[in-house]
Amino acid sequence: MTRLVTFADGTTVPALGQGTWEIGDHPARRDAEQQALARGIDLGLTLIDTAELYGDGRSERLVGEVIAGRRDEVFLVSKVRPENASELKMMLACEKSLERLGTDRLDLYLLHWESRVPLEETVAAFQELVDEGMIVRWGVSNLDLRAMKRLMEIEGGEDCAANQLLYHLGSRGVEFDLLPWMQARDMPMMAYSPLGRGGLLDHPLIRDIADRHDADPAQVALAAVLRQDGVIAIPKASSVEHVEANADALEIQFDAEDLHRLDEAFPPPTRETPLDII
Ligand code: NDP
Repeated sequence: MTRLVTFADGTTVPALGQGTWEIGDHPARRDAEQQALARGIDLGLTLIDTAELYGDGRSERLVGEVIAGRRDEVFLVSKVRPENASELKMMLACEKSLERLGTDRLDLYLLHWESRVPLEETVAAFQELVDEGMIVRWGVSNLDLRAMKRLMEIEGGEDCAANQLLYHLGSRGVEFDLLPWMQARDMPMMAYSPLGRGGLLDHPLIRDIADRHDADPAQVALAAVLRQDGVIAIPKASSVEHVEANADALEIQFDAEDLHRLDEAFPPPTRETPLDII
């Protein structure tokens, strides 16, 4: 089953994409990682998230090898390190990312986390890259509600297309205010570490619900995140087996009892919560 999420400019992407942190770091694992990413694209997990930071460019390089010859099938996301988020440095950082990825454009370029560079300057630098055709749109990551409101006051800030945030069953703080605020603006939230970096998968309740649905724990964790409108989950999987399991996450239909038990074990926030960041 495919679910789509729509950006404010009308562009649609699959709600389930692929993360790539720590991919490409070990030569012995590269083949399996490439096969996993390629299989994911075949299965419709065509949004791929990477960053110049990951393995100092190794992740982008591996992604570049996988998408060679099929660039137009994917929605490519990368991130700029905060120290490169200035008018002086961002263009070069982006050029290097494009070179490693073997492409002439990113579909979405994100500020990885808040920078010492003034946001006004970062927004202006993003706009320059849009004007040059190097990126189609830009967004942010790890910005809390206060920072997002500040961004909206900056000239051009309302062009921010997405915010990538830590979001999984064990970290639901964004549901209180930031996610609804983004939903009201048609600004998709990219949920990073949606499997809690794998840590959620041994939880007895998640295993139990998975058994009830004849499913995998990873599918339960992903389906829980994808219940929210406007959320794109980007699990990282380094084997074909894992990516195939993840691709079926949307087959799970929780019943009222499942939802009640999930809320009991992983309570939704009842008040403003400081943003969780890895
Ligand atoms: P995830 O929550 O995606 O968990 C990844 C772990 O889950 C890996 O150990 C993986 O194992 C395992 N896994 C994946 N699928 C399955 C499955 N079906 N069954 C069992 N285990 C499974 O963690 P990440 O932190 O990697 O988050 C996802 C992505 O989010 C990152 O790769 C990155 O792109 C992005 N991110 C962004 C951040 C930011 O600051 N903006 C911060 C952190 C992440 P295996 O590898 O063996 O398949």
